[in-house]
Amino acid sequence: MGLDPIKLIVLFFMKILSDRINNLPVSATLEMAAKARELKEKGNDIIGLSLGEPDFNTPEFIKEAAIQAVQDNYNSYTPVDGYPALKRSISRKFKRDNNLNYDLNQIVVSTGAKQSIANASMVLLNPGDEVLLPAPYWVSYSAIVTLSEAKSVVIPSSIETDFKITPDQLEKAITSKTKMVIFNSPNNPSGSVYTETEYRELAKVLEKFPKVYIISDEIYEHINYGEPIFSFASITEMYDRTITVNGVAKAFAMTGWRIGYIGAPSWIAKACNKMQGQITSGANCIAQRATIAALDAPVSKIKYMIDEFKNRRKLIISLLEEINGFKLNKPKGAFYVFPDISYYFGKTINSVTIKNSSDFSLFLLEMAHVATVSGDAFGSPNCIRISYAASVQQIKKACSLIKESLSK
Ligand code: GLU
Repeated sequence: MGLDPIKLIVLFFMKILSDRINNLPVSATLEMAAKARELKEKGNDIIGLSLGEPDFNTPEFIKEAAIQAVQDNYNSYTPVDGYPALKRSISRKFKRDNNLNYDLNQIVVSTGAKQSIANASMVLLNPGDEVLLPAPYWVSYSAIVTLSEAKSVVIPSSIETDFKITPDQLEKAITSKTKMVIFNSPNNPSGSVYTETEYRELAKVLEKFPKVYIISDEIYEHINYGEPIFSFASITEMYDRTITVNGVAKAFAMTGWRIGYIGAPSWIAKACNKMQGQITSGANCIAQRATIAALDAPVSKIKYMIDEFKNRRKLIISLLEEINGFKLNKPKGAFYVFPDISYYFGKTINSVTIKNSSDFSLFLLEMAHVATVSGDAFGSPNCIRISYAASVQQIKKACSLIKESLSK
């Protein structure tokens, strides 16, 4: 029996490629979205609940600002760290929504919050440094840490603690090699939100370890169904070592416009500016002008989207709760549910044996034609992520198909 020729070709090219890329996992969220797209193109009726992407159009007032920018001939390179006018809007936004004071030299605009996180990691991490990732964590954190030649150290959590870590867990995970911790609230994928009290307790631990830096990813800030979120950097003792990450993708339905930004100590912002200057230069000029309109507008202008997500959250939770073996928390923010589906591990349905969450997610894709993302990719192997940034009709149909496929 010879070796599979396709595998041989892949192996041949892998030998030429760098270790850096060979050791990098594919983004699970993007991979599942691509798989669903491919099946759709082949004529399958797939319901895509894998990607975290609002299904709304970008609001008109933002589109108008972009059109105006084109008419006004905004076409040249922008400053690497963003237009000063945009940085002024960001500074006002931080003050208005987060009670944070950031001067313009503390702000860097990037091509999406993903690049903001990558910049901050690249400029702070050295080989061998450890980065604490409270699980579940967004898939790209661990990959970005790997690219920065550092090591991810996962702090597990479960549905029993609403997918949040305790101060004790944090303290136990810190070693002499710990350089960074990445917090994300509202969380992708669990939707959990850390309260001010919980964040202050975690900060108390970090006060004992002054060499640990914090990335606070607040990209889901406005998709929040309770109290306004509490920004980690607003804890006085943490301000000087926290990088606050945000962007316009989720709250303003602007995923494809690719604008993210940080507020950080000026020496970190300067380093990110230098890094970005060698990799992408400034973010897209039209998108930057449109972002000024987005951030200058009162938050009430996007409330209709948040209200709609809230309705869909209620709907999807009630429908999933009816399915045998689905254990759910009640997410307080973002637009994902993250059910624990470990009940199905070891079970055989329709002659398919489910060993783990990847098998389960694949089963749902093939049998129910519903695309989800396996919890493995988020460091929580008992769960799957289901995005409810989809229409009510799609949510209803998807839940009914999932239920039907599992009842066989
Ligand atoms: N952040 C979104 C998600 O988790 C978009 C895809 C990505 O960049 O990972 O689905």
